[in-house]
Amino acid sequence: MGDVLYIVVPCYNEEAVLPETQKELGNKLETMITAGAVSEKSRIIFVDDGSKDKTWELIEKYHSENPRIGGVKLAHNRGHQFAVLAGLMTVKDLCDMAITMDADLQDDIDVVDKFVEKYKEGCEVVYGVRNSRATDTFFKKTTAEGFYKIMQAMGVDIVFNHADYRLMSKTVLDALSEYKEVNLFLRGIVPLIGYKSDTVEYARKERFAGESKYPLKKMLAFAIDGITSFSIKPIRLITTLGVGALCASALMIIWFIIGAVRGNTVSGWATIVISIWLFGGLILLGLGVVGEYIGKIYMEAKGRPRFRVEKFLG
Ligand code: UDP
Ligand code: MG
Repeated sequence: MGDVLYIVVPCYNEEAVLPETQKELGNKLETMITAGAVSEKSRIIFVDDGSKDKTWELIEKYHSENPRIGGVKLAHNRGHQFAVLAGLMTVKDLCDMAITMDADLQDDIDVVDKFVEKYKEGCEVVYGVRNSRATDTFFKKTTAEGFYKIMQAMGVDIVFNHADYRLMSKTVLDALSEYKEVNLFLRGIVPLIGYKSDTVEYARKERFAGESKYPLKKMLAFAIDGITSFSIKPIRLITTLGVGALCASALMIIWFIIGAVRGNTVSGWATIVISIWLFGGLILLGLGVVGEYIGKIYMEAKGRPRFRVEKFLG
């Protein structure tokens, strides 16, 4: 008998895809249990993220038909990241490992076997990585690529082309429960936790049915959240701008002195323009300094765990 696997699936207004998803996932889990890959205590948990359609009624129905299917109902819509976290935190003491995946079958569910194999080889985290975005629009592809690049430039440790399709062991779920931050960006937190990890590649498919629950506005908010939750580099940018403006005003002063020596000055120019740049620079620099302290307070306020001991000999 293998380890207990829980598959956590966030669902927001997914009545169009759920019938197919529960069937395919149900079959997948059944096959894995029969093959002895995972324990018969393994489950599929659908998290209803405050849906307005029949999503919860469907989950109740599937639960009554198949005891291996369960559900968590959130009281209101909190967004994908919280739906995933709510599901994980509800099941973390019941399982040895948990896999999170979207409800729309865009992520290849056959990868689940590979996730579990890697787990058995000793990986605590296995990331699903999209090796092809053939079905995504040009816009989605470029914005997604830009996002991962910006995150890297901001010094955030993030797995390229990995959305929230991943396996985490019980150890990692326990660690995750110590991150109490309100602005939740799982793709940034999980790599922070550490432990042995690996990636598995798969081709991302078309949404099985229904529409994307991530319109442009939500996508932008998500990206800004991701950057600002992990990096105070945007604040440093203000300092850089301030220093830049001060340098410019210094150059102007030199330019003015050279001009004055040569005797070809326009009267009034120097006092106005140089003081604008000088004070602009000072103000930006001052803002940057204040920002540095706010950034420190911000990072402290998150109360993230400072370390986690994996092993102790002695
Ligand atoms: N989702 C959710 N709450 C929300 C929005 C989305 O739980 O407020 C779920 C949704 O049901 C799906 C997953 O998050 O299972 C990813 O959403 P979607 O497939 O619409 O995003 P896309 O793949 O288009 O980026
Ligand atoms: Mg999707």
